[in-house]
Amino acid sequence: MTFRILLFALALPLSAREVAITIDDLPRGGDGPCDAAEVKRITARLIEPFRREKIPVIGFVNAGRCREKFQPDDLREVLAMWLEAGADLGNHTFSHPSLNTTLLAEYQDDILRGEPILKDLLAARERKLRYFRHPFLHAGPALETRRALEQWLQMHDYTVAPVTLDNSDWMFAEVYGRAKRSGNAEIARRAREAYLPYMESIFDFFEKRSVEVAGHEVRQILLIHANELNSEVMPKMLELMKKRGYRFISLERALEDPAYKLPDEYAGTGGFSWIHRWSKTKGMRPKGEPDEPAFIAEEYQRGRK
Ligand SMILES: [Zn+2]
Repeated sequence: MTFRILLFALALPLSAREVAITIDDLPRGGDGPCDAAEVKRITARLIEPFRREKIPVIGFVNAGRCREKFQPDDLREVLAMWLEAGADLGNHTFSHPSLNTTLLAEYQDDILRGEPILKDLLAARERKLRYFRHPFLHAGPALETRRALEQWLQMHDYTVAPVTLDNSDWMFAEVYGRAKRSGNAEIARRAREAYLPYMESIFDFFEKRSVEVAGHEVRQILLIHANELNSEVMPKMLELMKKRGYRFISLERALEDPAYKLPDEYAGTGGFSWIHRWSKTKGMRPKGEPDEPAFIAEEYQRGRK
């Protein structure tokens, strides 16, 4: 009997962790230009492991993102690639405004402007548009704005897609992309090599922090962006998660974790993990996730000048 219990206890942790993968800024994040052929090539590579392994994934779309460079059908084709690979799609607004600096009415218009192509593509597959993700994770500078938007989203049949595993993947991707384009192979190599160890530190931090804040390791929601770096490392990143004992779940299943019903009274200009929002609401002492390596931050800043 004791032996059996021991076996059970040993078997349990292997599949105990769960994560929903969410990918923002479709058709392409800020790591490079909106060249349609390149975006299609990156998309094909990025989604291939999800298709092959039937891993649930949802992409959040800025329908206006590449409108100046794309031909009329390019966006539709890229988004169809995601759906054909088994992904879901959500609305991330048309033009990626921040709620910190945009009037609520304008922000809502921008959400509506992002809808037609998504509703159309999803309806053709007998599916519905369900999820909304705030650009920059800015959910409202004041509680009044936040609540007003939440009510509006509910009226429009949206479920907010929170994030627990927040990180600076976009910073690595921008440094990597710029280094590649300018022929700086050394910086590109360093950025790529530093990326997954950094992501591992993010997992490690939020796994522990979720126990401190929510009392258990929550069903995590990972945010990453549709960029070339992620397309290149995705098989290895999935390996990293499997090694940590994760299985891949839908956003819907993640949100069934009671943690997502924890009180969240945070209002302010910060855009960060929901685990931090819950901890702030509880009045806990703040604890931030690990920073990216200094050279990434420096290279990122240099490129912005
Ligand atoms: Zn975004």
